Amino acid sequence: ATGVRTAKVEPVEAEDSVEQFAEYRRLKTTMRQMLMTGVPNPFFTVHDGIVGDTTIVDGKKLISFASYNYLGLSGHPDVSNAAANAVREYGTSVSASRLVSGEKPIHGQLEKRIANWIGVDNSILMVGGHATNETTIGHLVGAGDLIIHDSLAHNSIVQGALLSGARRRPFPHNDYDALDRMLVELRDQYRRVLVVIEGVYSMDGDFSNLPKFIEVKKKHRAMLMVDEAHSFGTMGKTGRGMSEHFGVNARDVDIWMGTLSKSAASCGGFIAGSEALVELLRYTAPGFVFSVGMPPAQVAAALAAIDTLEREPDRVDRLRSRSELFLSLCQEAGLDTGDSAGTPVVPVITGNSMLALRLSNRLKADGINVQPILYPAVDESAARLRFFVTSEHSEEQIRFTVAQTAKHIAELRSGSVEEKAAV
Ligand code: PMP
Repeated sequence: ATGVRTAKVEPVEAEDSVEQFAEYRRLKTTMRQMLMTGVPNPFFTVHDGIVGDTTIVDGKKLISFASYNYLGLSGHPDVSNAAANAVREYGTSVSASRLVSGEKPIHGQLEKRIANWIGVDNSILMVGGHATNETTIGHLVGAGDLIIHDSLAHNSIVQGALLSGARRRPFPHNDYDALDRMLVELRDQYRRVLVVIEGVYSMDGDFSNLPKFIEVKKKHRAMLMVDEAHSFGTMGKTGRGMSEHFGVNARDVDIWMGTLSKSAASCGGFIAGSEALVELLRYTAPGFVFSVGMPPAQVAAALAAIDTLEREPDRVDRLRSRSELFLSLCQEAGLDTGDSAGTPVVPVITGNSMLALRLSNRLKADGINVQPILYPAVDESAARLRFFVTSEHSEEQIRFTVAQTAKHIAELRSGSVEEKAAV
């Protein structure tokens, strides 16, 4: 008799162990289905040694197209030595958030180096690439704001958007006209609008027309963020990324994001831009303030990688010519490479997860390591093998790989009754 009317709430089944979770049961079903095909699990393969143009699996050397060591700098003696020296000088951890007492001289040096490399005021390092997007996007916008991102945006961008509490809308892949139309309709309902695109798209190997996106963002007083995970070190004449590729002023992009785990042969991420942006994040971004500073080895490795890249810009030229060769050979062989555009990411789309799985398994038997991308990571019709080309691959390795890929696809498509039924 409190006078308060309470709606009747249906009791729900309690779940108090992960084994009961529907998500876990779905995972187990998918794994069982995969095992039933007889093709070994393609995930968590153990690799020995340093992965460059080759890798070692089960003691066997394979040509590798499954790492983003795009410039061969992970394993480069100068980079490894710099990391080892930093460990000797500073230890293996900075043992505190940089804000309090984890700051080392090399942190600031790398941040300035990245900012100068790109052509903006300053940058800030974070311990993970994924975490960089999540915490930055999650922090810079919130309720009352709009995040509008490419429909193929990386999971870290989407997670950041969800964390932020801002309204989230995807726009059709690379379509700046569609973005413009959406902003005509939506812009005046929101305080801040953050447009997020990527440099090179990591599943498809294509890229967006940055000058057009800058035009649209200026027209609507939106902020533009570009994720350079796969374009830092790989795009532009000297590897400075998308601003160099298009010859645009880097300051026309509000937020440059990059990962150090790919061309920079390290781990972690950065945000680069105006002094105000970096200062705000340095004092307030949760994933920076409440997280340990980047370990010395990682900082020193990235610094040495950028130095090496600057000394040896031919690595970028080689990467570009190898990527173009890979793509043109695939096209000549009639393989479906989607929208790949001469970047180091070249998908070979099979449109069928089982076919992709069998294909990668056959290539492994030939001495070629490439990762299948299967449903649900992509739509079933978009299942593929994804090749990451590096500057270290020889023309011979590339020719052999494309030839074997084309041969096996043709065989699998018109193959034995048993295989056909399974495909
Ligand atoms: N952004 C993009 C576009 C990526 O592809 C990735 C990972 N491949 C990340 C962010 C996260 O970077 P990291 O792996 O360095 O955490």
